[in-house]
Amino acid sequence: MPIARPVLDEREVEAVRRVVLSGWVTQGPEIKAFEEEFAAYTGAAHACAVSNCTTALHLALMAVGVGPGDEVVTVSHSFIATANAVRYCGAVPVFVDVEAGSFNMDPDLVEKAITPRTKAILCVHQLGMPADLARLVTLARCRAIPLIEDAACAIGSEILWDGNWGKIGRPHGDVACFSFHPRKVITTGDGGMITTDDPKLDAKFRLWRQHSMSVSDAVRHGSRQVIFESYPELGFNYRMTDLQAAIGREQLKRLPEIVAERRKLAALYTKHLASLSGVSTPREPRWARSNWQSYAVMLENGIDQQSVMQAMLDEGISTRRGIMNSHLEPAYKGSTAFRAGSALGYSEIAQNRAVILPLFPGMTENQIAIVADSFDRAIKQVRELTTQAA
Ligand SMILES: *Cc1c(COP(=O)(O)O)cnc(C)c1O
Repeated sequence: MPIARPVLDEREVEAVRRVVLSGWVTQGPEIKAFEEEFAAYTGAAHACAVSNCTTALHLALMAVGVGPGDEVVTVSHSFIATANAVRYCGAVPVFVDVEAGSFNMDPDLVEKAITPRTKAILCVHQLGMPADLARLVTLARCRAIPLIEDAACAIGSEILWDGNWGKIGRPHGDVACFSFHPRKVITTGDGGMITTDDPKLDAKFRLWRQHSMSVSDAVRHGSRQVIFESYPELGFNYRMTDLQAAIGREQLKRLPEIVAERRKLAALYTKHLASLSGVSTPREPRWARSNWQSYAVMLENGIDQQSVMQAMLDEGISTRRGIMNSHLEPAYKGSTAFRAGSALGYSEIAQNRAVILPLFPGMTENQIAIVADSFDRAIKQVRELTTQAA
């Protein structure tokens, strides 16, 4: 059993076929339509499509003014792209720990890590679970520091805001960045989206994603007058293609159904794992609804993660360990590329004790029960071996 499986069929094939035969395959009408539909879904004023979430984060940080020598308070406990994007700006990621029992940034530690060099706060909605935006937004506003949300995994996740449920990506901070990599909830192969309510930020994203070209291809194509473009600033090629956007539009139509199914499957896991000893299951805070991009359970101290995962793989069930920590990777470890803004104990515990279980649309309750049983057997087996060794 795989850990994840994207939901793709003839509808996506047909969408790509339509674009291929149209003769316009990048920065055309499909991009525009995908952006409008994505903005409508999240409730954002602006959505700008880009090549992936890493480039989205790079542009977001640059647009709020992060540059060489600046600091960005973020988490180490995330996919490495989060911290790397800060380094692309020549800035220093300042890592704070995640909250105990959650995989998300601890707002109290953010407050303590802020210095006069802090130019942005970059939070992550890890595994689709919303970070504590109410506290982070208040903190960021009080200090007049921009808040960027790494929402790579969080399309379809929701948060209670002023008494109403709203989508992650409205955004609640200044900018939110999404990923359409196949491991996320919807996919365009690769792809990303940046949402914001600020038209000035949106204009920067649009300029920089296309080499800072002053006039777009679409405008020149449609003009009856000859137009010469210029390049006022250093830009990038961070474009999404219309082929990807056409797939994204189909995926967006399926999104409500996908999220509903993921929530149903996560609830089944919680039910089947309730009586298991040695594990704790994830819980949503009162103010958050996850899209369950991943379902991660924590093992009790002393139960070897890798052995449990191997025992399950021997039964044909794929799992993944908890999210990585950038500060432990060779690209960071022992270097001046980052600064620890707090102890990172819970981040390391989360990496070493979390196990991500298979979860994808199309799974049956029976399959969930099979995984839960296999997990139970694996834990018992590993415990027995540990006791014997001792
Ligand atoms: C996947 C992921 C990214 C990177 O997304 P890409 O689209 O692959 O660039 C960034 N941050 C987090 C938290 C992720 O999970």
